[in-house]
Amino acid sequence: MKNLVRKNIEKLIPYSSARNEFMEPGNILLDANELPFNEPFNRYPDPFQMELKKKISNKKNVQTDQIFLGNGSDECIDLIIRAFCEPKVDNIITVSPSYGMYDVLANINNVEIRKVDLTEDFQLDVNTTIKSIDQNSKLIILCNPNNPTANSFNRSDIVELLQKFEGLILIDEAYIDFSEKESFLNLINDYKQLVITQTFSKSYGLAGIRLGILFGQTFVIETLNKVKYPYNVNSLTIQEGIKQLDSDNSKWIERIIKEKQNLRNKLKELSIVEKIYNSDTNYLLVKFLDAELVYNYLKDQNIIVRDRSKHRLTPNCLRITVGDESQNKVLIKKLKEL
Ligand SMILES: *Cc1c(COP(=O)(O)O)cnc(C)c1O
Repeated sequence: MKNLVRKNIEKLIPYSSARNEFMEPGNILLDANELPFNEPFNRYPDPFQMELKKKISNKKNVQTDQIFLGNGSDECIDLIIRAFCEPKVDNIITVSPSYGMYDVLANINNVEIRKVDLTEDFQLDVNTTIKSIDQNSKLIILCNPNNPTANSFNRSDIVELLQKFEGLILIDEAYIDFSEKESFLNLINDYKQLVITQTFSKSYGLAGIRLGILFGQTFVIETLNKVKYPYNVNSLTIQEGIKQLDSDNSKWIERIIKEKQNLRNKLKELSIVEKIYNSDTNYLLVKFLDAELVYNYLKDQNIIVRDRSKHRLTPNCLRITVGDESQNKVLIKKLKEL
């Protein structure tokens, strides 16, 4: 695993923040130039968010030292690239179409990203993926369930890649709570190069607090801890995360799945709809007869959806997030009028 880390990061001596060592209550803290007034936010947050990690650890049945928290899962993915991929030397392999941020993050880090097209039924092309691996391939990123195609990949295909690839494999499980398929988290101790991200942004309804989770081997977590900003997750976010983890997000998930089924049934009746793809997520990928027309019409009606029609594998497709009952009603009404 050590060979996977960039040399400068392996040698890096991280910043030691004032709060690294002296967290016990009762100490008189005169070390971090904070104001002593205006509690509860006068102090820097715990750089390792231990209270929140303990809760996640209990809920997910993963050790706290296998958990990293970031400013959204986007930060977690960025840090994986930053710590493990040497700019202009190493490369990342991902699939297409998938989440646009992988491209952006790779480009910002000046790391080549190789995209392997999915098959016509939106599954992994394992052979082509393996063929595109070379000695500088450090990371494979798979979004599962995949955005924007909304399906899950065959578990056996991902397992095959885990068995054959020696670099890191990051599985982005942003939508896993909406899926009936199993998370890969239960394999976290079986494959040392497996890294999984999940997020509070979707099924918890907390996109605004910016909290993402990365699970991986202790070595990977320690490496990310060296690279991250000392206080990358703020006190308000930690507080809200602790509170919301106790609340049950299944009520949201059940409602969305029910609304998704309603929306699917209503869309199916429309003559302008050609196909609605299977969805393990909180959105539907819908193929229209003329996506551009529908997109612009909806925009004029103040309904904003995502245009995914430019990709070879998703022509005339729009990605529609499942809204609440009244939002979905308006959407269907407007589409009927069209
Ligand atoms: C929405 C989404 C995320 C969430 O990112 P955050 O930074 O945690 O808000 C991650 N991956 C995918 C594929 C997404 O669609």
